[in-house]
Amino acid sequence: MILIKTEEEIELIRESSLLVGKTLAEVARLIEPGVKTIDLDKRAETFIRDHKAIPGFKGYNGFPYTLCISINENVVHGFPSDRELKDGDIVSVDCGVVKNGFYGDSAYTFAVGEVKEDILLLMERTKASLYRGIEAAGAGNRIGDIGYAIQSYVESFGYSVVRDLVGHGLGRNLHEKPEVPNFGRRGTGPKLLEGMVLAIEPMINLGSRKVVQESDGWTFRTIDRQPSAHFEHDVVIRKGKAEILSTFDFVEEVLNNKN
Ligand code: MG
Ligand code: MG
Repeated sequence: MILIKTEEEIELIRESSLLVGKTLAEVARLIEPGVKTIDLDKRAETFIRDHKAIPGFKGYNGFPYTLCISINENVVHGFPSDRELKDGDIVSVDCGVVKNGFYGDSAYTFAVGEVKEDILLLMERTKASLYRGIEAAGAGNRIGDIGYAIQSYVESFGYSVVRDLVGHGLGRNLHEKPEVPNFGRRGTGPKLLEGMVLAIEPMINLGSRKVVQESDGWTFRTIDRQPSAHFEHDVVIRKGKAEILSTFDFVEEVLNNKN
């Protein structure tokens, strides 16, 4: 069953989602060559707890950290570690929180120093594909319309869509029904109804769409070790198009001030 949220519940999810956006902005301040990814994780955990919330991923199915940090060929679910970011890396930072019993879940892919033009384009277009998916998520459409919008856009550049990992419903649980694939056929899948809350999160690869899981039991990477980008928003289904509950505004304010 796909849950329909009340306006009160939607406001609580918005509060959690906005806190994720602010946490990602705190992480954005620290991202530069030489920083250890475990230090990004520590900053995020402190920031979340200072805001009377709980890291949403830590302990979820045994995941040991606050952030999923996935560098270059790592797609999602990477572990923070003593690895230092270096010039030319791209890094997906995925963050979840729980506050007032509701989850927020959002991700952003950052450039570290000078990143090659073709990889910057992969990042930009992955983010653009997320907004295309959101525009296709109006009430009365179907889940397949979201995936179609994302897939048709990114494949026009020769990129590929990860199939093994998908977006999801969101609320009192981090992962609720329905699954939200980033590929699909128009007019297929569950119907979108006002008040459904979804996390839409395209994972787009420069090369093959195939991914493999590392021996840590979590990290997914591209089979050909080419880079992958990942952006995620939480949205509520409304008439026309979905309303975005999370935000990249705080992150992008930090990034604009860095440049
Ligand atoms: Mg996420
Ligand atoms: Mg998610």
